[in-house]
Amino acid sequence: MFRKILIANRGEIACRIIRTARRTGVATVAVFSDADRDALHVALADEAVRIGPAEAAKSYLNIPAIVEAARASGAEAVHPGYGFLSENPEFVEAVEAAGLVFIGPSANAIRAMGLKDAAKALMEKAGVPVVPGYHGERQEPSFLAGEAEAIGYPVLIKARAGGGGKGMRKVERPEDFVAALESARREAESAFGDGRVLVEKYMAKPRHIEVQVFGDAHGNVVHLFERDCSLQRRHQKVIEEAPAPGMTAEMRAAMGTAAVRAAAAIGYSGAGTVEFIADVSEGLRQDRFHFMEMNTRLQVEHPVTEAITGLDLVEWQLRVAAGEPLPKRQDELSIDGWAFEARLYAENPARDFLPATGRLSVFDLPEGVRVDSGVRAGDLVTPYYDPMIAKVVTHGRTRAEALARLEGALAECRVAGVTTNAGFLARLCRLPAFSAGDVDTGLIGRSGEELLTEPEASEEAFALAALAALGLLAAPSGDDPWQRLRGFRLWGEAVQTVFLDHGGAEHALRVTMRGEGRFRVEHGGVATDLCVQSFDGRAVRVAFDGHTLPATVHREARAITVFFAGRGHAFVLAEEAGHQGEAAGGDRLSAPMPGLVRIVSAGPGARVKKGDPLVTMEAMKMELVLAAPRDGVVAAVPVAAGDQVPEGALLVALAPEEAA
Ligand code: ADP
Repeated sequence: MFRKILIANRGEIACRIIRTARRTGVATVAVFSDADRDALHVALADEAVRIGPAEAAKSYLNIPAIVEAARASGAEAVHPGYGFLSENPEFVEAVEAAGLVFIGPSANAIRAMGLKDAAKALMEKAGVPVVPGYHGERQEPSFLAGEAEAIGYPVLIKARAGGGGKGMRKVERPEDFVAALESARREAESAFGDGRVLVEKYMAKPRHIEVQVFGDAHGNVVHLFERDCSLQRRHQKVIEEAPAPGMTAEMRAAMGTAAVRAAAAIGYSGAGTVEFIADVSEGLRQDRFHFMEMNTRLQVEHPVTEAITGLDLVEWQLRVAAGEPLPKRQDELSIDGWAFEARLYAENPARDFLPATGRLSVFDLPEGVRVDSGVRAGDLVTPYYDPMIAKVVTHGRTRAEALARLEGALAECRVAGVTTNAGFLARLCRLPAFSAGDVDTGLIGRSGEELLTEPEASEEAFALAALAALGLLAAPSGDDPWQRLRGFRLWGEAVQTVFLDHGGAEHALRVTMRGEGRFRVEHGGVATDLCVQSFDGRAVRVAFDGHTLPATVHREARAITVFFAGRGHAFVLAEEAGHQGEAAGGDRLSAPMPGLVRIVSAGPGARVKKGDPLVTMEAMKMELVLAAPRDGVVAAVPVAAGDQVPEGALLVALAPEEAA
């Protein structure tokens, strides 16, 4: 076994590899970009080496810098993780040229599977069923249109160099073929620098079923059963499971044999995945699965295979790369129960899944289930890398049990400061077709808007947000009655109104204090009575109609997040008209959402006019120009271009207005 390895990756997969390395007594070297100086993977590794600026092209894709880091730190081998350089044969060659071991397949095996067309031709020869279609050299539009005609519509145009669903177009009718071809080519050209395509039969009701394979340097290849990754959004996996629902022993054997044959055909060593597409318009049928592509690395979703086999695939990778034979033979492998994995992303489903950035002010993930994460509370989610922040993995004796655990675990994901898809994932668990195991890749696309939109918060959640907004949750400090009456007039009615933004609308909430932690909150004609029993700054115990329930409330600047009854809800305290400082036309310019400061147009001492652009931010893939709220003189600019700022951060302060 190796003494020390370098991990050429970041985020959850770097952390996950470090865990196995530590358990097996292998020292680890992390690499990091400037944006990741304080990242979890850097903190977990034994050593860490800076490899470049934030942009991946100059850091995590920087082959010379990574190889030099490995050499200088005395690592014997390099684990590429997934993504970045994991399927780059030149990286393998550079690692080997430096006298180090690449923890993965040979450069030749990666090349053989690197282009979809060549891989399909190779698999056809090896007797592996491939999707009917044209995957030859000719690229003239008229020729390809003729092939599409012969295959029969609908067809799918795919970039041969494709990945991540890029350069892929479904074409329904012959008259649309040429336009779709041109658009697929343009996308492929800009994403991969290779505009060549193949044309396939488009499966009406496809399921994505993939087989985990493992080879060693001694010519052994086994498979570790299948994963079903059909729950996809725009060809991107969302929730994966193992085994595949409805899989028969015969079909599993047929797919496993085909996958092993595919790996053996290229002398494969290490972890790999053979992806198949199964046409299930007439159910799962042994003669209706076809090779799609082979991923020559560890997959994001490998934990579901680990959960049902009880194995550690990273440990297998390390052993095989160190020259050991595979730890088990095919007949020693078996399936135990069922497993799911949900990918938790920093993104906003209600806004077309735009990646979200910002500081994770709360990041509490469920306990008692496997969570692979690359971040912790307080970390920044930057716009530079993949927005996946964690994977939640559950296991059960049956599919229903594992799925119920997943739903429960998702309800316990409490994240604030950054928008996530946790609610979307939880709603997916409740889709009837999914819980019945009747999945296909179009399921999410066919499901309605209600899957994407966060339902409005309950009255209980609104009431808790209103109390948080008024500072009324704070535990009574001592016996000071003045303290407890904070925010309320001492004479007359103890009533206060607060305005909260929620789900894009402003809500007025009228809070009446009724003594000793008891409140009435009126909102849109509905009154909610609640009694706060305890609050430790985060966790609240609160009784509604005599029924005590737990909740978690977090407030940072004007952002309030309430976690109640398995759902998280975000509120923003509206600017109070006439409030000193924060008011429109006030002294402060603050960030309306988390983002990156791009341009700072005025420095301290500058005289500005109302409406002058002061700061340009990039947030949610938009450019925001923030203008001076009034005429005045800039007193302070606590941010600089390049800073990542949370929502509500002070960007510019104006000197107080001189009394006229
Ligand atoms: P990429 O490498 O870009 O991710 P894949 O070839 O792996 O592309 O395909 C991605 C997804 O596209 C599959 O999981 C499946 O949902 C869908 N897909 C691929 N080929 C077909 C096909 N022939 N018919 C229908 N859907 C397909």
